[in-house]
Amino acid sequence: HADVALYHAKDKGRNNYQFYTTSISSKAPEVLTIEKSLRHALEREEFVVYYQPQINIHTGKITGMEALLRWQHPEMGLVAPNIFIPLAEESGLIVPIGEWVLRTACMQNKAWQNAGLPPLTVAVNLSLKQFREPKLVQTVAQILEQTELEPRFLELEITETVAIEDLNFTKKVLQELEQMGVHLSIDDFGTGYSSLSRLQLLPLHNLKIDRSFIRELTTDVKVAHIVKAIVTLGRNLGLRLTAEGVEKEEELEFLKSINCEDVQGFLFYKPLSAQKATEILENTIANSHKCSSEQG
Ligand code: C2E
Ligand code: MG
Ligand code: MG
Ligand code: MG
Repeated sequence: HADVALYHAKDKGRNNYQFYTTSISSKAPEVLTIEKSLRHALEREEFVVYYQPQINIHTGKITGMEALLRWQHPEMGLVAPNIFIPLAEESGLIVPIGEWVLRTACMQNKAWQNAGLPPLTVAVNLSLKQFREPKLVQTVAQILEQTELEPRFLELEITETVAIEDLNFTKKVLQELEQMGVHLSIDDFGTGYSSLSRLQLLPLHNLKIDRSFIRELTTDVKVAHIVKAIVTLGRNLGLRLTAEGVEKEEELEFLKSINCEDVQGFLFYKPLSAQKATEILENTIANSHKCSSEQG
C-alpha cells in the first residue's frame, strides 16, 4: 500500500497539471483509502511526533530537537512522512495536521523546560500550503501564547523552494515571524535553485545543508568544496549552519574542521519518541552533573 501511495504522490509532484485534470476516481484504490483514513487520523489521534536531537559540534551538547511527524496507522503500522505528507498537502489536510504538530511540539518543549531540562529549540517543518495559509502568523502567535513557550525556543523550517517561490511574500511572512521572536531556518539547503545572495534578503537564523551533500562529503572532493563554501558564506552572512544526515565519524570531523556549528544525524540519534527523547535529555543532565562533580 505504502509504495503505491508514494509512487502516486511523486508522480503528481512532478506534474500538477495532471493532478488537477485527473478525476478522483482514476486514483488507485490504495491512495483513496489512505486519503480517507488520513481525514480521520487527527480525530482518532493516530499522529505521533518524533524528535531528532541537533548537536553542537564543538560542545557535544543537544541544542535543539526537530519535530518529525509519524502516522501510527492501525493496519499499516508506523507510516513515514514522505508517504502521507504529499497526500495531506494535496488535500489541504496538511493545514490542520501541521497546526497539531506545531502545538504538540511547543507543548513538549515547554514541558521539557518545566521539568528543569536545559532549554533548547524545537524545530517544526512547514510545507508550502501551510506557509501560504493566510492565518499562519496568527496561528503561530496563538499557539505560543497558549503553550507559554517563549518564541525564541521555536524554529520554523521551510525549504528553499518554498522560500524563493515568491520572495516578496516570503519576506513579509518571515518578517512578521521574526518580529514575534521566532527563529527561521532554510531546510534541505542546496537542493533547490536558490542562492545565498537571494536568501540573504530574508530574516533567517539557520541554514540546514541537505543530507545528499553530507552523504558524498567524504567520497567526492568537489562536494566537500561546495559544503565548505556554503558553510563559509553562510557564517559570514551571520547564519547558523546545521548539517543534516551525518552518519559517519569522518563526516563529523570534516564538518568540525570547516567550522559548521550543528549536526543532526544517525551518528548521534535517530528520530525518537517523546518519551525516549525525554530520557536522553534527562541522562545528559545527569551525566553533566556527574562530570562536574568528578572534576570538582
Ligand atoms: P526533513 O525536514 O529534511 O527531516 C530530516 C529527515 O532526514 C527525517 O526524515 C530524518 O529522519 C532523516 N534523517 C536525519 N538524519 C539522518 C541520517 O543520518 N540518515 C538518514 N538516512 N536519514 C536521516 P523523516 O522523519 O522521514 O522526514 C522526512 C521529511 O518529511 C522531512 O524532511 C520533512 O520534509 C517532512 N516532514 C516530517 N515531519 C513533517 C511535519 O510535521 N510537517 C511537514 N510539513 N513536513 C514534515
Ligand atoms: Mg526539516
Ligand atoms: Mg531537511
Ligand atoms: Mg526534506
